[in-house]
Amino acid sequence: MSDRINETNQTIECPECGHHLHVSLDCSNGDQDFFEECPNCCHEFHINLHLDEEHRKLVIKVNSDNEQYY
Ligand SMILES: [Zn+2]
Repeated sequence: MSDRINETNQTIECPECGHHLHVSLDCSNGDQDFFEECPNCCHEFHINLHLDEEHRKLVIKVNSDNEQYY
């Protein structure tokens, strides 16, 4: 089915050092949470993947481990 998003390659930015890294995302299971480690600064950060069915687009949120709350 070509009208559905299944696997996609995305470029995300490390919240620590701004290094760009490419991730291959499998969207067939809907929303996902996973951790990715930056190859540049070895910082681990949290990626939240949300598939917006209505607008057919991916929403990717990148959160650093040590989130700061004010
Ligand atoms: Zn980094």
